Amino acid sequence: MGYVIALANQKGGVGKTTTSVNLGACLADLGKKVLLIDLDPQGNATSGLGIDKKSIKQSVYDVLINDVDLSDIILPSSHKGMDIAPTTIALSGAEVELTSLMARETRLKDAFGSVKDEYNYILIDCPPSLGLLTINAFTACDSILIPVQSEYYALEGLSQLLNTIKLVRKHFNPDLKIEGVLLTMFDKRTNLGQQVNAEVKKFFGSQVYQTIIPRNVRLSEAPSHGEAIVDYDKRSTGAHVYQQLAKEVLANHGE
Ligand code: ADP
Ligand code: MG
Repeated sequence: MGYVIALANQKGGVGKTTTSVNLGACLADLGKKVLLIDLDPQGNATSGLGIDKKSIKQSVYDVLINDVDLSDIILPSSHKGMDIAPTTIALSGAEVELTSLMARETRLKDAFGSVKDEYNYILIDCPPSLGLLTINAFTACDSILIPVQSEYYALEGLSQLLNTIKLVRKHFNPDLKIEGVLLTMFDKRTNLGQQVNAEVKKFFGSQVYQTIIPRNVRLSEAPSHGEAIVDYDKRSTGAHVYQQLAKEVLANHGE
């Protein structure tokens, strides 16, 4: 059975998509079969993995709203060993459309079917909000990986996120866990980075990954080439740190 990890933080621009794409690619390089579900209407993971959005016939939107099977929308990504459930901007309407549907919080979970058996890891790239799309991810997943950007107010909003996790545990998914907390866009030249690191560790303790993702311009360039960092520039710092993170994630799973 595939293990499902949602990458979430309602703040935008903290590294959710970058981490989904590159952690996924590095897990695939370690021999895992990986599916990335793009649950953000922006579709940055979809285009970042080389999918031309104009070519998409059915997307995550159809899975959530039109009862299309998840297996029917899956495409191979530009990275070997990783598939993607793509999204288009149509998904931006889903947040509202879901409101009036039956089983609105469990639609993603209900759509998995046999797809779960075909992958070792399924990553869900969440939108920057705590609305119904994110609730669907939290209901469908085993655990949540929280990227935290190394900046002032890094912890701001995290109590809301933890509160949402608590509510989902209570109503839909009692076994929901925190997979880990990842510091991103770290700048080791400033004291701020060290301060944020200490603060996040004080708050989350051993749930914080040893691996810290530094700022690396190659990581921000790779998506416009439709490639994961290990395909765009294998020798970059960005590639090395995401390889390290993938190993740490597997080690936490006893692999
Ligand atoms: P989110 O999905 O949380 O909104 P993204 O992963 O899209 O965040 O990252 C926001 C922006 O920052 C993107 O332009 C991305 O390319 C860039 N970025 C993410 N991580 C890094 C990093 N470690 N170093 C440099 N740029 C990064
Ligand atoms: Mg994103």
